[in-house]
Amino acid sequence: MDDLHTIEGENMAQEVINDTTSNLSEVRANIDNVDKQLLQLLAQRRGLAEQVIRIKSLEQSPLRDEKREANLLRARIADGRTLGLNPQLITSLFHEILADSNRAQQDVLQAELNGVKPSTRPTRVAFQGIDGSYSHLVGRSIFGNSTNASKSAAQVAATSEFVGFPSYKRVVEAVENGDCDCAILPIENTTSGAINDVYDLLLNSRVSIVGEEKFNIKHCLIGLEDVPVSHLQVIHCSQIGMTECSQFLSDIPTCSLQYAPDSAMAMKKLHESGNKLHAAIGSEEAAEMLGLKVLKRGIADHEENFTRYLVVAKTPIKVDSRVPSKVSVVMNTLNKAGALVDTLVVFKEAGINLTKLESRPIPGNSWEEMFYIDFNGNLDDQTVKVALGEITKLARFIKVLGCYPACDVTPTAVPESAGESCDESQGCGKKVHIEVTEKPAPKSSGKDKGYKLASREHKSSNTIINVGGVSIGDGNFLVIAGPCSVESREQIMACAKEARDNGARILRGGVFKPRTSPYSFQGLGYEGLDMLVEAGKAFGMPVITEVMTTEDVERVAEKADIIQIGARNMQNYSLLKAIGETRRPVMLKRGLSAPIEELLQATEYILAGGNQQVFLCERGIRTFETATRGTLDISAVPVLKAKTHLPVFIDPSHAAGVRELVPPLAMAAKAVGADGIIVEFHPEPEKALSDGPQALRFHEFEKMMVDLRKIER
Ligand code: PEP
Ligand code: MN
Repeated sequence: MDDLHTIEGENMAQEVINDTTSNLSEVRANIDNVDKQLLQLLAQRRGLAEQVIRIKSLEQSPLRDEKREANLLRARIADGRTLGLNPQLITSLFHEILADSNRAQQDVLQAELNGVKPSTRPTRVAFQGIDGSYSHLVGRSIFGNSTNASKSAAQVAATSEFVGFPSYKRVVEAVENGDCDCAILPIENTTSGAINDVYDLLLNSRVSIVGEEKFNIKHCLIGLEDVPVSHLQVIHCSQIGMTECSQFLSDIPTCSLQYAPDSAMAMKKLHESGNKLHAAIGSEEAAEMLGLKVLKRGIADHEENFTRYLVVAKTPIKVDSRVPSKVSVVMNTLNKAGALVDTLVVFKEAGINLTKLESRPIPGNSWEEMFYIDFNGNLDDQTVKVALGEITKLARFIKVLGCYPACDVTPTAVPESAGESCDESQGCGKKVHIEVTEKPAPKSSGKDKGYKLASREHKSSNTIINVGGVSIGDGNFLVIAGPCSVESREQIMACAKEARDNGARILRGGVFKPRTSPYSFQGLGYEGLDMLVEAGKAFGMPVITEVMTTEDVERVAEKADIIQIGARNMQNYSLLKAIGETRRPVMLKRGLSAPIEELLQATEYILAGGNQQVFLCERGIRTFETATRGTLDISAVPVLKAKTHLPVFIDPSHAAGVRELVPPLAMAAKAVGADGIIVEFHPEPEKALSDGPQALRFHEFEKMMVDLRKIER
């Protein structure tokens, strides 16, 4: 992708900025003007990206150039800084722009490969339901958008026409008999799982999968007029809507439910009822289409509620080898022990990554299963051909459902020095490189010492924990930052902004505080947790908070992304067992007087309970030394790294006890090979309700973050 130089656009924007009018409507008109220019520039940029792929196509060069993308992102972040724009904003904006360019380029390659037949009539797109159903909305987003990869599957026409059918079966038949060019079918949802009827239809139909799309389903409560939820008597909803909003519905038990085949029908029924005490579950877009009112947003049990949709057409498509693609197959293995494993081994040995394995019963053949498999690959690729050939020998039945462009575009990697104010390649900042050995030969095995699952003998590769888009232990040095305690909404919001703007990736904040004295501030409890979660969401960061009692584990784990077990609870075995049963990642801090071996044994309680997402934290231990709050046992890092595969963090704040010592200890943590640090700061440390003396001031935190980037691991 090439840089965009639009001097004209720059001048126009400058004119608007220089305009110092004080009239509100005039300023707003100027804003509208800037937005229009932004859109024009985006369209112009996409046009250039398409030119780039045409040149690349002639030269047969790869679709993506990751190095160029990373350099571009780094340069834009630096340019943005000079204009006072936030690096995180630039990063997310350019992730979207680069993803859009990628999709536009994929479209060009796909159109070149499959040919585009000009058509005099609109593309007819079949979907289940009526206008306003989720399938219809997805169809509109795919076919109303010229950059969608699956569009080349259908004839490209000036417009698209959407045709609703009462059932999935009728949708598929419309494509099979040529009434429609393609169809949109939901296949799985992140909350309610597989859509079985669609899986069963794919097995017996003659259509091919030609595309996929993920859609964020945002269920709302829709009504005719503003009525308090407690007054409602009837809720119209689809089966899926009911499953995905079950918690919300259980809070209004007096309401009766009336089922509709899909969410748009539910809203239609609400409309027809004319009764303001009726409501429906559906999308905001559909409510707008039907002239209805949104009574409540975000009523789904899980905010992350995505449905994956397939685009199917009568004829299969080919996918350019440079476009990341998927293949879907359905198969039935031989009826013998290990038959499925044998099949999976073929994929493994071919180095093929499976993205989905779903089993479905075969009607009429009790206890036999059909396996639906999706994998990353291209049917024209020799490795895939050979693997599928091998699998044919192990299967009783196998059918390829299609090969299609994958809808996820891997985001451009954020350059390590992205948050920095100056470019190191230009000679700013001196790098120090320190070799860290991760695996000196262990003298004795962990098993003999009372820990097994935590040991390197059990698992030699490093554990990497993925949480909310952040990777812990992947080789990058990660900073968790925030106040000791959440004290108010304003305080945690200010801290979240500070953390994010300066490159911290996870937000910390205590809401249950282990205080030496019962008279000290004990934390804001669940109210504080809600503030922490809100701040994390507002600034796009996962959050970590401490849990002190077994009773709180489940409730905190519902909302916090990472659970912290504090130093005082390292050997609270019932708490560790409860944590072992949660699915949330855990940071276990070393006890005040605990040898490393005991830290590993405590870890074993969590691992043995089933939870493998644990990372450890050295936070200073009790010694005869009184110059610091604790003595930071810096050697614990290489010792732990040798003994365990789990990520190891340092907490310089609790070790130091005074803010002046925090930055040098943080530098030592990075240099010694820790996977990251957890550090405390506060907007006004003098007023902090806990640990004020060790809290960095914002400007000190900012300097520390810049200095940390100069140290190489
Ligand atoms: C904390 O991180 O807020 C804390 C109380 O730390 P520790 O358990 O290490 O004392
Ligand atoms: Mn603290």
